[in-house]
Amino acid sequence: MSAGAEHHVVIVGAGFGGLEAARNLASAPVRITMIDRRNHHLFQPLLYQVATASLPTSEIAWPIRFLLRGHKNVTTLLGTVTGVERDGKRVLLDGEPPIAFDTLILATGARHAYFGHDEWEPYAPGVKTLEDATRIRRRILSAFEQAEWETDEARRAEWLTFVIIGAGPTGVEIAGTIAELARDTLRGDFRNFDTRSARVVLVEAGPRILAGFTEDLSAYAARALERLGVEVRLGQAVSQCRADGVELGGAFLPARTILWAAGVAASPAAEWLEAPADRAGRVRVEPDLSVPGQPDIFVVGDTAFVAGADGKPVPGVAPAAKQEGHYVAKLIKARLQGKPSAAPFVYKNAGNLATIGKRAAIVDFGWIKLRGRLAWWIWGIAHIFFLIGLRNRLAVALNWLWIYVSGHRSARLITQRDPGRAPPD
Ligand SMILES: Cc1cc2nc3c(=O)[nH]c(=O)nc-3n(C[C@H](O)[C@H](O)[C@H](O)COP(=O)(O)OP(=O)(O)OC[C@H]3O[C@@H](n4cnc5c(N)ncnc54)[C@H](O)[C@@H]3O)c2cc1C
Repeated sequence: MSAGAEHHVVIVGAGFGGLEAARNLASAPVRITMIDRRNHHLFQPLLYQVATASLPTSEIAWPIRFLLRGHKNVTTLLGTVTGVERDGKRVLLDGEPPIAFDTLILATGARHAYFGHDEWEPYAPGVKTLEDATRIRRRILSAFEQAEWETDEARRAEWLTFVIIGAGPTGVEIAGTIAELARDTLRGDFRNFDTRSARVVLVEAGPRILAGFTEDLSAYAARALERLGVEVRLGQAVSQCRADGVELGGAFLPARTILWAAGVAASPAAEWLEAPADRAGRVRVEPDLSVPGQPDIFVVGDTAFVAGADGKPVPGVAPAAKQEGHYVAKLIKARLQGKPSAAPFVYKNAGNLATIGKRAAIVDFGWIKLRGRLAWWIWGIAHIFFLIGLRNRLAVALNWLWIYVSGHRSARLITQRDPGRAPPD
């Protein structure tokens, strides 16, 4: 690896992994180009709160340019990467000239996967970007508005049925919050129906919800959801998604709002690199996170597949992406100083957390497992701690406190909807 100020590191993706790499390389004698197709870094763990009207968008996203403004060796570019010339060492972009690199870090994350049924996406959107979250918020709030107009009871029931597919942390969090919206936040706001009659159905193909947690925590979460009025349907795979409902377990369930929280696939980095990948499309990287046969190209975060010390894949979570970004930055700095190759990447488990509504959560740090209100406070404090900037931390804390005490959610805005009574989207 050539040393000196001209060594050019290109980072694609300013999510958790890419941003951490950029920050840790900022003091190194390198020139860094950060490329992202969006102008903001997004705190995805709280995205569902935007989707369910609990937080405004600006509380969980920050302009990348602003976050990196203090690092004079970093240039931020808004652009979409479409490929990589491995041998020519260039990154290819949509509508912009290629960019040459000495070292490349791909941190392009993951996207929804519909298990071969991409045609379901318009009916069952997933939550991955700010646009997704505001679209889902529009659908949820518009469904209640449509129910207010409806005079036919069966059709009103369709508008008031919300189906969430996939009972991982995101599905559980969305289901719990929609149930609270209906029971608590919106109660009394409509004249032609009682919002408490809304049905929230959480569908899971596996035998239990939150499969990444221990059985007792998962059972606790299922009970907490049921207390909120959520119907949990286990062992039922969805076989059809339509505008007016879903087919599951051989029966049709009419519903006007269907949300997808069932699966993700990695960004197409493995295709760009023609590198070996696992079934989810993640690049099978070397223990130092470089691409096999390409020591100057690294892949981190949700797009990388690497085994942890226990032999299991490192999970697709924010702390793993950050640790990988940090590790690669350190490795690049060591190489520039001519130091021998680094020890393999080792993931340090940062714990597993999920919340069920505004009063219950489950937390598993390995050495301690908690559930209930105390777990909810730990969940809340952990998330506030990882937000960027004092203003956002205070704003989110105040928002949550307000929801906790009053049940009111201030971000109940339907935006980007055509005027008139047209159904959402
Ligand atoms: C709804 C939801 C809830 C979650 N909850 C939690 C949680 O509670 N706890 C937790 O630890 N993890 C959670 N996660 C997972 C966590 O957010 C991811 O593991 C983490 O974001 C991965 O970081 P990353 O850097 O790999 O990718 P990302 O953070 O996804 O960043 C990828 C970046 O690459 C950019 N990009 C992608 N493709 C291109 C391209 N072609 N050209 C240019 N730029 C591109 C994107 O715009 C994005 O900025 C959640 C994820 C979601 C979607």
